[in-house]
Amino acid sequence: MRYAILSDIHANVDSLQQALSKTGADDVIVSLGDVVGYGPNPNEVVRLLRDRARHAVLGNHDLAALENFGVEHFNEAARAAILWTQGVLDEASRGWLNLLPYELRFPDFLLVHGAPVKYFEYILDKEEAAAAFDRTDAPLIFVGHTHIAQYWVRDGSRAIGHKHMQHGGSLELEDGKRYIVDVGSVGQPRDLNPLASFAFYDPSVKRVEWLRYEYPIEEVQRKMRAARLPRYLVDRLSRGR
Ligand code: ZN
Repeated sequence: MRYAILSDIHANVDSLQQALSKTGADDVIVSLGDVVGYGPNPNEVVRLLRDRARHAVLGNHDLAALENFGVEHFNEAARAAILWTQGVLDEASRGWLNLLPYELRFPDFLLVHGAPVKYFEYILDKEEAAAAFDRTDAPLIFVGHTHIAQYWVRDGSRAIGHKHMQHGGSLELEDGKRYIVDVGSVGQPRDLNPLASFAFYDPSVKRVEWLRYEYPIEEVQRKMRAARLPRYLVDRLSRGR
């Protein structure tokens, strides 16, 4: 059994469809949150995930769309996009988002949007990674939130290693080491590569593989302009930042 772990889809249904087309019928689809916000198709993304995802956790933009959580900390473009999202989100989508948990713990791994316990914190440097490892005993932690494909590893000496996966690649999981795997973003990559990102996890061979893939960026931008979503959010898709 293989997991396909998707995060930060952000109402980008075109990229989600491309991601799903790369998965097999037996793959377990997982969503790490921020299903909505920024993009033009929140209801379509929720419907597709409702049908296809077996596991899903809540992101901060999902909570912002539901109940204005944290909107005071958003920049102007993000706030405008959440207001727009609140205006179009239908009852069925709200109902599905409203039932998502903050975390899902399995014997061998943990699924959270941003970080263990402090669910919406960012893991962006070694200090934050060390603090995140200390808040859970999960050997393998899957996160999104940063929109940056990367991983952190800690061995018995507690030294932290880090690697960006800006152009995809794979990681062989070693016994005695713990990992934080950031799968990157399906809907709005920010690691200077406009190709979308998600990761496969195959427990039988202890391997994580990041995939970078094309999707019709201009079509998504056309829909965003038609919806009068902020120009900054439209432009950043083609820059990947
Ligand atoms: Zn996000």
